[in-house]
Amino acid sequence: MPVPLFTPTDLHVHLAPEFPIHEALAAAEQRGFRLGIVEHPEKSWGIKDNTDLQEYINHLRPYPVHVGLQPIYRNWNRAFSAELLAQVDYVLMDPQTLPQPDGSFLRIWEFDTFVPDPEKFMQQYMAHCLGILENEPIDIFGWPLFLPVCIARDYYTLWTTERKQQIINAAKARNIAIEINEMARVPDEDFICMAKEHGLKFAFGTDARTKDVAGRLIYGMEVVRACGLTPEDFFTPRRSASTLA
Ligand SMILES: [Zn+2]
Repeated sequence: MPVPLFTPTDLHVHLAPEFPIHEALAAAEQRGFRLGIVEHPEKSWGIKDNTDLQEYINHLRPYPVHVGLQPIYRNWNRAFSAELLAQVDYVLMDPQTLPQPDGSFLRIWEFDTFVPDPEKFMQQYMAHCLGILENEPIDIFGWPLFLPVCIARDYYTLWTTERKQQIINAAKARNIAIEINEMARVPDEDFICMAKEHGLKFAFGTDARTKDVAGRLIYGMEVVRACGLTPEDFFTPRRSASTLA
């Protein structure tokens, strides 16, 4: 693995029973990166209400990590008080849970996601991406430009310059940073260079749930070099690293 040009922050790390906070901190120490932890606000199995959110924040506050949220559904923030949300260091949202006209959701990261009509899918997907970028109170757009496996080979055809520009304009209008997603290696280098030209900020994200994956930024460092990204091009969470214990 190439030596990073600066100390990176992985803002997309999930804790798990087999990957508790002290393991995450040990990985960060060992591999030389800073940590941002995210958890999902969600009505049934995630952070459900203010009590859960307060508990989550209190649990992580003693540690030198950024405390983030990763919502999945539109209008997620209605379940929480503004005061409590202001205590969160950043919000990262991805468009992978795609609402369907019948009220169901297409989970586009699942391998067996079926896309009968790629063009129709793209129209629906673009509307969802723009809906998030234009309306949701978020700081980072996660898994940008990711496509379901069955149409991934058409990435460069489906992601036209016009569509890329629309995403960039919408993110820029609300100062939303673009995640450089390590797990799916998205978005592509051209998009990242294009976003940099438009003054967008970036955030590294591995979507790790294990110590081997957290902070492992191989694609991330590749595009840092290819697009000439500097520390100034990266998003800074509300509570800066210098105030971390
Ligand atoms: Zn995640």
